[in-house]
Amino acid sequence: MTKRRDLSPALLAWVKSAEWRALSRAQARKNLAAWKAAPRCGAHARSTGEPCQKPAKTGSTRCRIHGAATPKGFGKGTGWHIPTPAITAPKTERKIRDRIRAAEKKARRLAKMSSEELDAHKRWQITHKPGSAEARERARAERKQNAELRDMMAEPRPAPTGQAADIESQLKALRAELQQRRKDDDKPIGAFA
Ligand SMILES: [Zn+2]
Repeated sequence: MTKRRDLSPALLAWVKSAEWRALSRAQARKNLAAWKAAPRCGAHARSTGEPCQKPAKTGSTRCRIHGAATPKGFGKGTGWHIPTPAITAPKTERKIRDRIRAAEKKARRLAKMSSEELDAHKRWQITHKPGSAEARERARAERKQNAELRDMMAEPRPAPTGQAADIESQLKALRAELQQRRKDDDKPIGAFA
């Protein structure tokens, strides 16, 4: 953070001016209003046993400490499941060692499994595909819609009534006439009696 003594004289004069004070006061009021207007965190606070009531983070129903800071989604840009280098080399090495240890632990766990357990494990992996919750939800909605469409197509159409029935019978007659005419056209010339 820049200290006041490091500011140039012009900048120092500006931050001491009445105008700057008015601007910063207005901004502080705005921040406070936003803080008060924000939806509240509904998480159960263990300290009080009541809902937390701190302002929720934008786009979430929870505050920072109740999960809103937890990265969401999967893959690049989400900050989740992606090994990133740490600030210092020893910390990066420790992260790599942790990953190696976790992989070894998993390998040991898999090696101990019976074939049934292994099958169950594989099934779980297949049915619990990675990807964002939204993407999975979208795919699920699409599958549901397609199934509904298939059911709709498979259902026998209800018998038409009233005007629809009239049109249906007219159509039937017209189609029959068309077919008759086509048959007539196919007759070789000179076949007329
Ligand atoms: Zn909270």
